Amino acid sequence: MLKIEGLSAEIDGKPILNGIDLEVPQGELHAIMGPNGSGKSTLSYVLAGREGYEITGGSVTFDGHDLLAMEPEERAAAGLFLAFQYPVELPGVGNANFLRTALNALRRSKGEPELDAMQFLKVARERMRALSMPEDMLKRGVNVGFSGGEKKRNEILQMALLNPRMAVLDETDSGLDIDALRIVADGVNAMRGPGFSALVITHYQRLLEYIVPDRVHVLVNGRIAKSGGPELAKELEVSGYGSVQAAA
Ligand code: ADP
Ligand code: MG
Ligand code: MG
Repeated sequence: MLKIEGLSAEIDGKPILNGIDLEVPQGELHAIMGPNGSGKSTLSYVLAGREGYEITGGSVTFDGHDLLAMEPEERAAAGLFLAFQYPVELPGVGNANFLRTALNALRRSKGEPELDAMQFLKVARERMRALSMPEDMLKRGVNVGFSGGEKKRNEILQMALLNPRMAVLDETDSGLDIDALRIVADGVNAMRGPGFSALVITHYQRLLEYIVPDRVHVLVNGRIAKSGGPELAKELEVSGYGSVQAAA
């Protein structure tokens, strides 16, 4: 499904990713761990097609298509969902409109009819009930004054509405309490199945107690230094990144 080969990228002439090889087959959930500054967020930005990142080598394909050649909205249309560490705040933009615009852009690109406000509210309320989200979050400005946990809930709601075939989630875990981690985990776990894959990026092992990955990869200096099963996350929690860094 997602195949990354020899991916290298730089920011302002500074190499950050140094030949990443990674394959996430359909239906699998992989975790990327690694010390601060190892390039985890950069990888998610490159996959999202964010500006300012120069690809200096390698390739990324999604379902056999050249992902790096696609515009960010084409990536979404292809079924890829990317969530970010620092969600934007959009004062003045109602959350319901924001979410409906995102959903309708996706539906347009698939040739599906757009949802009007009433139709959207029906779908959104259904999803929100499933996620135990208070309905007033639809009325507020996008992420404005949202707590860390509410931002997470909103991101997971967005994912549930867009129903992607693959999600890339960059989670620092910083400032997130156990409840917020559970929201992310429950939202991701609810989507797991043969038609959904995910790449969950996280600094700490704690999230992976709730989301048990099929594979764990450790990123060090912009390269995958070690891969293993879910037990690798537990080993790293005990031993730290030192041994992996030394071997990289
Ligand atoms: P991680 O998410 O693993 O903590 P990042 O991808 O955020 O790592 O950062 C990887 C490296 O790239 C760090 O050394 C960081 O300082 C550097 N970096 C990230 N963003 C920028 C930027 N916009 N300009 C220059 N250097 C950056
Ligand atoms: Mg960081
Ligand atoms: Mg990061």
